[in-house]
Amino acid sequence: MVETYELLSAKSGKEIRSRMFTFRDLGDRKVALRPEFTASIARLVTSAFKKEPKPLRIFSVGSVYRYDEPQRGRYREFWQSNFELIGSSKPEADAEAIILTDCLMKLSGISNYSFTIGHIGILRGVLSQNNIAEKVQNDILQLMDKKDLNKALALLEKKGCRDFLEGLLELKGNTAFETAERIQRYVKDYPVAEMAAKNLVDILTLVAASGCPIEVVEPAFARGLEYYTGLIFEVKVPELDVALGGGGRYDKLVESFGGEATPAVGVAHGLDRMILATQIQNSFLSKKQRKTVMIVSIKPELRAEALRISELLREEEISVELEVMGRRIKKALEDANRRKVDYVVIVGAKELKAGAVAFRDLGSREQFTVKIAQLPKKIKGKGRKASS
Ligand code: AMP
Repeated sequence: MVETYELLSAKSGKEIRSRMFTFRDLGDRKVALRPEFTASIARLVTSAFKKEPKPLRIFSVGSVYRYDEPQRGRYREFWQSNFELIGSSKPEADAEAIILTDCLMKLSGISNYSFTIGHIGILRGVLSQNNIAEKVQNDILQLMDKKDLNKALALLEKKGCRDFLEGLLELKGNTAFETAERIQRYVKDYPVAEMAAKNLVDILTLVAASGCPIEVVEPAFARGLEYYTGLIFEVKVPELDVALGGGGRYDKLVESFGGEATPAVGVAHGLDRMILATQIQNSFLSKKQRKTVMIVSIKPELRAEALRISELLREEEISVELEVMGRRIKKALEDANRRKVDYVVIVGAKELKAGAVAFRDLGSREQFTVKIAQLPKKIKGKGRKASS
C-alpha cells in the first residue's frame, strides 16, 4: 500500500501525481499511498517475478488512495481489482483485457455497460513525427483526458498541429469499426500512427468476435496515466458519468523500472463504482443472496449446544449469528425480525433429546421441528416439509 514516491510518480502523469497522499516515513523516505496498482506490479515484474516464464497473468485486489474531490462514485479511498497480462504484444492480449472486463461486468449483474476504445499510439505517432517532445505530448494528452480540448488545441497550434487534431476529432463512423478504419486512412502519411490504427482495428476484430459490446471508438480518447503506449479503454454505464473500469497497453513501463523490454496490457476495475452501479440498476448483486440465521437457546445451559450448531451451519457456508445478549425468546425474535433475519433456530431441551431444534421461518411465521442434521438443507431451501 505504501511505495516510494519516486516509483509511484515516475510514469503516472501530472494529474495522479498531484493527487497522491505523500509523506515522509520515520526513516525520512518520501513515500506515498498507492494511487493505482500498475507501477507496483511493474516493480514486481522487475524483481520478485523477474524469472517467471511469460506470459504472466497477475490479479490483484486492494485499496487505492487519491485526493479526488469526494462525490458520488468518487472517493479518496476506493477499491480496485486489477488484471495485468505481462509479456505479450499481440492484439489477442489486448482483447483478453477487454473480454475479461466484459465477463466481470456480466457476472456482477451490471447491464447496459459499454466500452469506449482508443489508441494512444495514433496521436503519439503523429506528434512524434512532428517533432513534438514527449513532455509536451503528455501535457496535450492530459488536457484531452480532462476534456479540455480548447487548451489542447491551443497548445497544438503553437506546434503547428492544430488542424490535424481538429480533423481527427471529426472522424466518426456509424460503427466502431468504421471510425477505426477512417482513422487508419486519415493517418496514412504517418507510418507509426498508421500501424497503431491498424493494431486498433485488429483488436476490435478480435473483441467483436466475442460479442462484447464496443460501441464507441473515440479518435481523441486519452487517459490520465502517462505510461500507456497502445490500446486504451474504459467501461461505463449510462447511469453514471464516471467509468467503472479502465485500462490499456503499457509496453515501456517495465523497462523504465530497469527490467527487460516487456510488453504488457492491463485493466483496473473500480469496485466501489461497480457496487454503486448494481445498486442503481437494482441488479441481483445488490439483492440479498444468502439466507441468514439466528440461533437462540432457551436456557443458558444450552448455550454450548447452540454454539456447536452455529459452527455446523457455518461449515455449510450459512451466515449464522448467535443470540449473545442473554435475551428471552420473545425479545430475541423481535430483534431478529427488526434486522430481517430469515430463520431463527431455537435450541430447547425437549427437541434436543431427539437430535432436533425448533425452526422458525420469520418470513412465513411458520415454526416446526427439524433434525439438526437436516438444518443446512432446510436453510438452503431444499425440502420445505418439517422432518421431525
Ligand atoms: P484510472 O486508472 O484512473 O482509470 O482508475 C481505474 C478505475 O478506478 C476507474 O475506472 C474507476 O472505476 C476507479 N476509480 C478511479 N478513481 C476513483 C475514485 N476517486 N473513487 C472511486 N473509484 C475510482
